[in-house]
Amino acid sequence: MTETILVIAAHPDDEVLGVGATVARHAAAGDAVHTIIVAEGATSRDAQRNNAARVDELIALRQSAAEAAAILGTSQPILLGLPDNRLDSCDLLDIVKKIEAVVDRVKPSVIYTHHAGDLNVDHQIVHEAVLVACRPLPASPIRAIYAFETVSATEWSPQQTFLPNHFVDAGPTWQKKMAALSIYESEMRPFPHARSLEAVEALAKWRGSSVGLNKAEAFQIIRQLQC
Ligand SMILES: [Zn+2]
Repeated sequence: MTETILVIAAHPDDEVLGVGATVARHAAAGDAVHTIIVAEGATSRDAQRNNAARVDELIALRQSAAEAAAILGTSQPILLGLPDNRLDSCDLLDIVKKIEAVVDRVKPSVIYTHHAGDLNVDHQIVHEAVLVACRPLPASPIRAIYAFETVSATEWSPQQTFLPNHFVDAGPTWQKKMAALSIYESEMRPFPHARSLEAVEALAKWRGSSVGLNKAEAFQIIRQLQC
């Protein structure tokens, strides 16, 4: 039975960092994979949000998101374009309504989103908005919600509350994840920065070795429902 998957990420690149190998496996298995990217990226690098000053970067990020999705085999991402690293300036309800509209349309069975304990404020807010938009109402199609980890946000939290209890073998689609990440060259940093290709691979090896695999993506189960 094929599934409908919905990834809800804060920024362009989070969807690949957190769940790229797993969604590529879903896509290869024939599942429909949709992605929402809530914030626009890049504009938090200025003291004031100034989209005009970052227009070339914003266009490039949108293009990167589209190319990464093509590599992973997923649908073209839905870009909400909200302010980067300033989601706390938006009403939570407005974010919830935008996510709800997509959930109502695509009727996902599985959701992947950010971990609540990430250092990044946008990640925290997206997590909260997703839980509200995906609340377990009668007849909801959603049977599972998983939180992914995002290098340079999850492990930077002083609380270290990400406790993985669901693992996906990333070996079969690792090269697709690496190829998709290389599209986001502007967002990646040289090692030993946590958001480097080397660190992403080291994490995958560590998560894999935790469960007897060469590489894995790790998740924390938020909710699972078996009917
Ligand atoms: Zn992010």
